[in-house]
Amino acid sequence: DSVFSHVARAPEDPILGVTVAFNKDPSPVKLNLGVGAYRTEEGKPLVLNVVRQAEQQLINDRARVKEYLPIVGLVEFNKLSAKLIFGADSPAILENRVTTVQCLSGTGSLRVGGEFLARHYHQHTIYIPKPTWGNHPKVFTLAGLSVKYYRYYDPATRGLDFQGLLEDLGSAPLGAVVLLHACAHNPTGVDPTIQQWEQIRQLIRSRRQLPFFDSAYQGFASGNLDADAQSIRSFVADGGECLVAQSYAKNMGLYGERVGALSIVCRTADVAGRVESQLKLVIRPMYSNPPIHGASIVAAILRDREMYNEWTIELKAMADRIISMRHQLFDALRARGTPGDWSHIIKQIGMFTFTGLNSQQVAFMTKEYHIYMTSDGRISMAGLSSKTVPHLADAIHAAVA
Ligand code: PMP
Repeated sequence: DSVFSHVARAPEDPILGVTVAFNKDPSPVKLNLGVGAYRTEEGKPLVLNVVRQAEQQLINDRARVKEYLPIVGLVEFNKLSAKLIFGADSPAILENRVTTVQCLSGTGSLRVGGEFLARHYHQHTIYIPKPTWGNHPKVFTLAGLSVKYYRYYDPATRGLDFQGLLEDLGSAPLGAVVLLHACAHNPTGVDPTIQQWEQIRQLIRSRRQLPFFDSAYQGFASGNLDADAQSIRSFVADGGECLVAQSYAKNMGLYGERVGALSIVCRTADVAGRVESQLKLVIRPMYSNPPIHGASIVAAILRDREMYNEWTIELKAMADRIISMRHQLFDALRARGTPGDWSHIIKQIGMFTFTGLNSQQVAFMTKEYHIYMTSDGRISMAGLSSKTVPHLADAIHAAVA
């Protein structure tokens, strides 16, 4: 008899479980719009040319060894990551008041940031948008924070519930931590406008709340790296403090390499140095130090002007293909006369469309059309192609008719 015989089977992860179900389906027309990973027009995963080039450089360099990185990761990677997100001329960087540590992609950066706050910040409540990426509440709860929600999405308009957001942050405690999606909000695809960001910034600063940005899609939303970092940069420009979790999963297609960074912008260089010393105490017993390969790829690309430029071109091509899928799907529904206003498909931004389809409609589309997506009606536009748009449009049409 096993000492583990009492262990109950846990449910599949709600997002990754979609792929498990997809893999079991023998249908030739099946379509996986669940997980947020980029696919080409041919439905294939994409390794960027510039990533291949960087890997070739790494292989050719016989001097490279596989020694451990420091606890904080590859120092050059950290510097370049801070420049990428805050801007090369950011005063916070020039004044040495940013500490950046390499972490295990976006998820690991959120987790390390969360644990640091649980140990060293006076407020242990983090406000996250409703809805948000399903892993957020779990990551922050396990990091030792207590999670509360602020209103974000209005199902009636399939847009931002700006009034609700302002009310909820306005009544959240002084000093509370506030999680903000830097751009391409997941799962809704709904971002505040620049004017709305400015109001959010003023409110958060007036309540002395601490912004924690999750930047999983820089460059992937608009196709422009600077535009997608604008929300963060406006908070850094006011001289206040914040945290930023960066992921290279989407914008460099480095999903499985697990490359990301946590930056903490502080008031002074002295504070930043002490904060970094404590981040090391969070990281060391968790995984000792981060992996070397992915960070070396990123550093090779970011340090070289030509490779950097090639990256921005490849990145824009991915963003443009996704935007084009939005227009094709919208047009296909219009052509079918599908009941309802589907303009949110082209108004929303980033990898996902929050369709407004309910869980029964999703279940119907999976059963009858072999289309896989999360039960909240979120579809990954990156998983669509010109060939599969008609099939999806037929399914949506049948589901809402
Ligand atoms: N935050 C958000 C909003 C995300 O959508 C994702 C990826 N789905 C992540 C963080 C983390 O991704 P990763 O750990 O792969 O970088």
